[in-house]
Amino acid sequence: IITITDLTKDFGETRALRAVNLTVTRGEVVVLLGLSGSGKSTLLRHIDGLEMPTEGDVTVLGQSVRSLRPTALRSLRGRVAMIFQQFELVPSLTVVENVLTGALARVRGPRLGLSTWPKNLKQEALTHLDRVGLLHRAYNRADQLSGGQQQRVAIARALMQNPEVLLADEPVASLDPESSDVVMNLIREIAAERGLTVVCSLHQVDLALGWSDRIVGLRHGEVVLDTPTTGLSRDRAMEIYGHVSVSTS
Ligand code: ATP
Ligand code: MG
Repeated sequence: IITITDLTKDFGETRALRAVNLTVTRGEVVVLLGLSGSGKSTLLRHIDGLEMPTEGDVTVLGQSVRSLRPTALRSLRGRVAMIFQQFELVPSLTVVENVLTGALARVRGPRLGLSTWPKNLKQEALTHLDRVGLLHRAYNRADQLSGGQQQRVAIARALMQNPEVLLADEPVASLDPESSDVVMNLIREIAAERGLTVVCSLHQVDLALGWSDRIVGLRHGEVVLDTPTTGLSRDRAMEIYGHVSVSTS
């Protein structure tokens, strides 16, 4: 579902990715593990078509990001959802309105206020909120929720895209351990229910080991490990990660 071939990315003098090769098949749950600056976010942004390769190519859902025109790129992005460390909700909007923004690509024109959204989409948003356990907070302002709850809203918003691929860039880096577990378990469960393919960057080695099917280690923009999670020892994972634990939780 994702094929990355000899992907190199330069930002001016900085080489962020070096000849990365990676194939992810449908339904896989893959973790990108690597220290700060190793290229995790840059790799995820290529899969979402937000960055263009300097060299090499990225094929997502059968389409090469290099060859796509802007409209086709937008439609590809619709099938790939992304969640972020800082949730990126609109704080002044209600929770359900935030979820609805995930469907902006499915309606024409701007939407100002809940009443301007089609009823079926509102219903769908509430269904997703129920799935992440936050139906009772639907009409609260987003900024009244805890971090863990806000990330669950972001997951519901991602589901509004009806995505086939879910990308997560350090989704629990700003959460406490308990909320991290809730959010990570939720992502796994929803991925299994919907047959979603997940690529998630993480800093926490132990979380990665307990959660993923496969671990891809990045160091200085290079893939230095690509292996099924089963059978990977903690020591080996730590070694790949960079000898030191900078776990934030
Ligand atoms: P972190 O764990 O801190 O989020 P990361 O693994 O996500 O790190 P990236 O953000 O992908 O790392 O960055 C990889 C390298 O590319 C870094 O050296 C970074 O400074 C550089 N870089 C990333 N984006 C840009 C940009 N837009 N312009 C210039 N340099 C960039
Ligand atoms: Mg990053």
